[in-house]
Amino acid sequence: MREYDDTYRHKGLRKKLMDSLREKGITDESVLLAMGNIPRHFFMDPGFDSVAYEDRALPIDVDQTISQPYTVAFQTQLLKIRPNDKVLEIGTGSMYQATVLAEMGAKVVTIERQKKLYTATKDFILRKKYPSASLKFIYGDGFEGQPAFAPFDKIIITCGAPFVPPKLIQQMKSGGIMVIPLAEDEHHKMLRITKKEDGTTEEETFSDFSFVPMLPGKNE
Ligand code: SAH
Repeated sequence: MREYDDTYRHKGLRKKLMDSLREKGITDESVLLAMGNIPRHFFMDPGFDSVAYEDRALPIDVDQTISQPYTVAFQTQLLKIRPNDKVLEIGTGSMYQATVLAEMGAKVVTIERQKKLYTATKDFILRKKYPSASLKFIYGDGFEGQPAFAPFDKIIITCGAPFVPPKLIQQMKSGGIMVIPLAEDEHHKMLRITKKEDGTTEEETFSDFSFVPMLPGKNE
């Protein structure tokens, strides 16, 4: 059995990482507070322990990645999370981003298309703290969204999408926000889409990020 220990050293490195995110322009203290509370090293192979609090993406299983902390902070900040927001995440991956959202008081539904990563969610180490009423894991195709739990206040896509999936727009509440990295080449521009009361959408664009691709269908 793996041991999970959040030592003073981890906590110290985490605090430094939050300071560096602040220096890089993250201003939403509720995001930094949540990320400061979550032991990121729990969400990766113990072999990466020494680099878990560097501001970079790291490999997880099946050739996927846990996003860079700056990217997690930036996307979360764009979402303007309020407690009890119903949030859909596409791309569970390591479960880190979903846990940050749950720590902020959101009710999170997160979808993963890789069976192996989904299966790992059954052993989610922080399950006692975030019961399934606050964080639900689904095996499925993010292009379909999750109609059973729709509509959502917020939707976050954590893989590079080839286009904005129409079903996800349908599953947003009016007044809702979607944050989605849109693939152009190997770079992704970050879009924030706000759905207005009349059902039309408004877009804002933010600068380049890099993500693993959003792929269609489920993978056994
Ligand atoms: N949010 C994750 C980031 C993981 S990387 C974290 O915090 O660790 C992006 C993930 O999106 C990968 O695990 C990939 O398998 C998943 N993904 C890609 N296309 C998808 C789709 N259509 N539906 C659901 N998940 C998808």
